[in-house]
Formats: sequence, C-alpha cells, structure tokens
Amino acid sequence: MNNASQQLAIGFDIGGTNVRAGVVNADGQVIDTRAVATAKNAADLEDSIEKLVLELRADHDIKAVGLAVAGFIDPTCTTVLFAPHLPWRNAPVRNNIEDRLGMPVRLEHDANSAAWGEARFGAGRDAKDWVFFAVGTGIGATLMSGGEIYRGAFGTAPEFGHLCVVPNGRACSCGKNGCLERYASGTALPDTAVELRADYETALPEVPTGEEIVAAARLGDPLAVAVMEDFGMWLGKGLAMVSDVLDPELIVLGGGVSHEADLFLPHSRQTMKDNIVGAGYREVADVKVAVLGSQAGMIGAADLARAGACVS
Ligand SMILES: [Zn+2]
Repeated sequence: MNNASQQLAIGFDIGGTNVRAGVVNADGQVIDTRAVATAKNAADLEDSIEKLVLELRADHDIKAVGLAVAGFIDPTCTTVLFAPHLPWRNAPVRNNIEDRLGMPVRLEHDANSAAWGEARFGAGRDAKDWVFFAVGTGIGATLMSGGEIYRGAFGTAPEFGHLCVVPNGRACSCGKNGCLERYASGTALPDTAVELRADYETALPEVPTGEEIVAAARLGDPLAVAVMEDFGMWLGKGLAMVSDVLDPELIVLGGGVSHEADLFLPHSRQTMKDNIVGAGYREVADVKVAVLGSQAGMIGAADLARAGACVS
C-alpha cells in the first residue's frame, strides 16, 4: 500500500433508517464499517456519529470525516436545511460535528456524495458533463458539470424526481401531483400494479410490494411484467427530459432499483432515444448502471472529506 492510500477518511451515509460509516482509503476501498439505527433527535444522532468515529479512530489513523445526508444542504455545505426523515432542521451540522471531533468534517447531500464516488472510482470516471440518477424509494439526482458538482444558486439542484409528468396525477409526498418519482421509483411499482390489475392475469396479492413485483416479473407474471414495462417507459421519458435540458454525455443509474436494471433498462434506453428532441439526428447520452452500489455515498463522502471544503 502506498502513502496516498493510507490517507484514511471516514464516510458516513446518514439515512432515515440507518447511519452507516466506512473507513475509506484514497483508492476508494472501504476497509472497515459500522452501522447503527438512526436516532430520533438531533443530539442523539450527533452523539451516535461521534461514537462511531471514536470507535473507528481507535483502530485507524483517520484524517477527515465526510457526512452524506439525505436532505437539503445549504450551498456552502455547512447546514442541513431540511431532511424529511432526519431530525435536523436548519442545523449547523458541519460545525457541530467538527467541534465534537476536532478534525475536518465535510457535509454533502447523499446523491451528490454517491455521484462523487462514482465520478472518482466508478461508472462516471471518464465523464465530465453527466448526470447521476438514483432510483430507490424516490429519485435522487446530481448534475456533474465539468467534473464538479453543480449546486444551483440555492443548493437544491437538481430535483428531477419532482418534475410533473402527469398533470393532476398521483399525489406526491412533496405536496405536488404527478411527479416523475410517483411513476418511476420503487414505491411507484405497487401503485402501478393496483392501477393495471384489472387488465392482466396475475398471481400477485391485491397490493404487492415492489420486491414481490420484481420477483414475479422474473417469473413472467403478466401483471408484474406490465408494471415493469410501465416503470421502464416512465424512466425513459424522465431520462429524455434530462437529456433535452442538459445534453449530458452519460447518465449513471444508481439506487436500489438499479440492481434490477436488466428488467427495464433496455426499454428505458429505447424510450429515451424515441423521446428526445431531434431523435435520430443527435448524439444520445450513454446510460450505465452504477458500480459502487450502496457504498457509493460513503466512498464519495470520504473522498470529499479528504479533498477539503465544499467549493461553491
Ligand atoms: Zn413530488
């Protein structure tokens, strides 16, 4: 192991269910991990982060800590403005944790962290202007512009999941109706199954889970296959909109649903090609599946922590 790869940082992935921490070397390899359930109040959550760092610091020479947070971060990457599944509200998390630990702390949005991980060590390594599109419970996205994270003026760009694709469509947790993620996400699958149920034979229960739909689609269940077809179509339309607005060279598909990409991605790619403006007369973004899986966020957060302050 050379000197550079001994520059260890801890990357945290802080989600609504679990807080996961990984010791990551400069080659993007995770060499140790810890996880705890996410605490319900801010003080307990910060206590648990400090405790995990102290545990990992006992075994490793840690230089910095990166926090990937599922929520809105201010453009200077110091404050968690709002996180729907976490207790922080307008909380100066970067400074709070830095004061507790006495070492550099980097705060970043979770999709941005995962995109950065893919940019440095994964599917986005050779790209400059590209989009990370994470499909799980909802849709999280990051725009990489000239190799850097594009934040927008107020730090919330881009929210592709909440583009309206069906006027007066399904209600979304964001308060709007007809958002893309209500048709192309893991949680959209059961809704689509309920809507299409009358038209297809099926062995699925009345209100199936996303996992049941995926498993049934693999066995050829007609309703489940139709649901995945519908999902792939909406995802493709979403990617066409992304391409029309941003003209990226590459779209990297991440998130939990990406593990089932063989079930829908060919259809999504075709739908994207058919729906972009100037179809047939322009270059089309390559669509690749992310390679770092559920560790992308912690790997990216650790690498950003090693690199230093948020540049904006
Ligand atoms: Zn929405």
